[in-house]
Amino acid sequence: MEIISELQNRDAGEKDMFLQIFNQSPAIEYLLDPENGHIVDANNAACTFWGWSRQQLRTMRIWDINIAGQKKLEQQFNETKAGVTNFFMNQHRIKSGEIRHVEVYVNPIVLKGRRLNLIIAHDVTDRRRAEDSLRLAYRALEAATIGILISDAQQPDMPISYVNPAFELLTGYTQAEVLGRNCRFLQGTQHDQPGLDEVRSALKEGRCCEVILQNFKKDGTVFWNQLHIAPLRNDAGMITHFVGAQKDISGQMAVSARIDHMAYYDPLTELPNRRLFLDRLTTAVAVAQRNNVFGAVVFIDLDNFKNLNDAEGHEVGDDLLREIAARLQQAQRREDTVSRLGGDEFVLLLPALSDNSEISANLVQAVIARIQKAICEPVVLGKFQHHIAASIGVTLFPKGVESASDLLKQADTAMYRAKATGRNCVCYFEPAMQAAVSARLTLEHDLRDAMERQDFRMFLQGQVNASGKIIGAEALIRWHNKEGGLISPMAFIPIAEDTGLIVPMGTWMLRQACLAIKTMEQAGRPIRISVNVSPRQFRGPDFRDCVAMVLQETGARASLLTLEITEAVVFDNLTEAISKMRQLKALGVHFSIDDFGTGYSSLAYLKKLPLTELKIDKSFIQDAPTDMNDASLVEAILAVATHHGLQVVAEGVETLQHVDFLKERGCPLFQGYYFARPIPGEEFVHKVLSGPAEDIDTAISLQAAP
Ligand code: C2E
Ligand code: MG
Ligand code: MG
Repeated sequence: MEIISELQNRDAGEKDMFLQIFNQSPAIEYLLDPENGHIVDANNAACTFWGWSRQQLRTMRIWDINIAGQKKLEQQFNETKAGVTNFFMNQHRIKSGEIRHVEVYVNPIVLKGRRLNLIIAHDVTDRRRAEDSLRLAYRALEAATIGILISDAQQPDMPISYVNPAFELLTGYTQAEVLGRNCRFLQGTQHDQPGLDEVRSALKEGRCCEVILQNFKKDGTVFWNQLHIAPLRNDAGMITHFVGAQKDISGQMAVSARIDHMAYYDPLTELPNRRLFLDRLTTAVAVAQRNNVFGAVVFIDLDNFKNLNDAEGHEVGDDLLREIAARLQQAQRREDTVSRLGGDEFVLLLPALSDNSEISANLVQAVIARIQKAICEPVVLGKFQHHIAASIGVTLFPKGVESASDLLKQADTAMYRAKATGRNCVCYFEPAMQAAVSARLTLEHDLRDAMERQDFRMFLQGQVNASGKIIGAEALIRWHNKEGGLISPMAFIPIAEDTGLIVPMGTWMLRQACLAIKTMEQAGRPIRISVNVSPRQFRGPDFRDCVAMVLQETGARASLLTLEITEAVVFDNLTEAISKMRQLKALGVHFSIDDFGTGYSSLAYLKKLPLTELKIDKSFIQDAPTDMNDASLVEAILAVATHHGLQVVAEGVETLQHVDFLKERGCPLFQGYYFARPIPGEEFVHKVLSGPAEDIDTAISLQAAP
């Protein structure tokens, strides 16, 4: 109340000064009559603020401006009078109608004996708005459904300084648990995800980024975090914080994975669809072109599927397609793609077969044989058994500039040809391939026939020592086909091997050889016969028993039988080969390594094997007299054989030059046209039995197995 008494006691000059200060003060100041709310006076700043002139204001009461109303304001006057407070927050409606926030300080004074309130007001509207929007922003952060994380860019390792409730809900971590930590703990152990590089460089460069990361919740569950990071700058433009907005999009990811799956896979069989197949084929063609290898497209169309579908209904049809799809998947190699194009059409991609077209065709044939077998197995659906067959069309790539869809069309064309030929047929798009495959199929068929009709003959080719005396013979199979032609074993042994016919064929040869051994021994001319044993035959589980049985049945002396095997047979599984050879050796038979030098030629294994003999491959003998490399190889083999106490037979000895070369180097045994051609077994036996005894040397034949 001091001001009141102060003013009362001032003289007129001082009062004028006061009015001057009042008028010119930059603060909004006005005088009110607390009895009736009249605005007694207002300074220039107040006039400017409210928009009314002094005259106008002098006719107004404060509640014309202050939106709190008369009652509330009278209460404020009373509070001031009572000394409770002289500070209030009010809202004034100015002339334009706008409402402004004001802080008012009320000072009761006495002017000319009149009790008035001198009021100083501050327009705090802008500050209030700033505070309001800050408060709003904070509430928005707290209410947001997106996880928000703010980290402090000015502290080392950017600790988290704020997370909102949505973050807590999303990750399971509370604010207290994460504040002060760097947010990388969300990555678990996945610190080399592709998105992280982008995050690191965005933080470094101070820019926004958006990535999808695999993050972990507090309970360890994984979620896909769609993270948007933005830098926050202060007025000086310096980055003070980074704000991260994160969203769990695991659901979306699952949906889009599902959509992708639907776009690329057949919903019925879950096999890749045409689109994915063409994608993979395009890649396979490019790879094949780059690496100079062949691949194949195999088009498979089920025969008579439509009939079954119509007769049994679509559900049965669908079950059948699913079953066939599963079988095709089983029959394929790991690198192949089986796809369903639609209906009863399947297609197989065989990439990277071989760089040799013939080997590739054989590989394709082998896969097709498996497929046909898989499809032909009866399918049991409900009460019925169905027998399914398929028409198959094949095309090889790369040929030229064919696109993936061109190749698919070629395979389709070939399939139609197969269909036209009859059920369960395979056709190739390439005429040459078709011819080769047809020829092979015919040969395969004839071979089975020949096996049944016993169209094979055993030929024997004599082997001699350095004095030209017969020491033994090699049994070589011959096939007289229906047309009376003689087919080379080189042409049919590989097919017999592939089809498994080699096993009965080999047993047949073994028996013929043993019969000849027995005949010659009984006649007092015991000479050995060498029999070729194919890999498949040797590896067969019954091979030992088969040899034992044939020896027993024919009564042939085991030590007169030599089994010729190749290095490949031994090397495929050395331990198993050794154990099998030992079992057979126990029967008394000898072993010879055929075509020695063409395979692994690792001499180190020789002493591990129970061997009697090496046969130097004819390719070395042919050129040895003229080719230095071959000559030294022959010399090396002879030296090693001598070192290991092994017999050596030189194969393919055709000329006197060969003979001289070999004799000079101490080669003990010879086989070749120079001495004898292979002749029918009976003829050979007759020759041995009817010839002079001096032509024969039985010393080698009579040696026991080592
Ligand atoms: P191989 O076991 O190396 O047999 C030697 C081959 O060389 C025989 O061919 C023989 O006729 C041929 N030959 C013999 N002397 C000469 C010569 O002076 N010059 C030339 N250029 N060749 C000569 P063949 O009878 O055509 O047999 C070829 C291959 O077929 C055999 O090579 C053997 O691997 C296989 N083979 C033959 N018979 C059988 C058999 O009963 N079972 C098995 N698994 N394979 C057999
Ligand atoms: Mg041989
Ligand atoms: Mg040979």
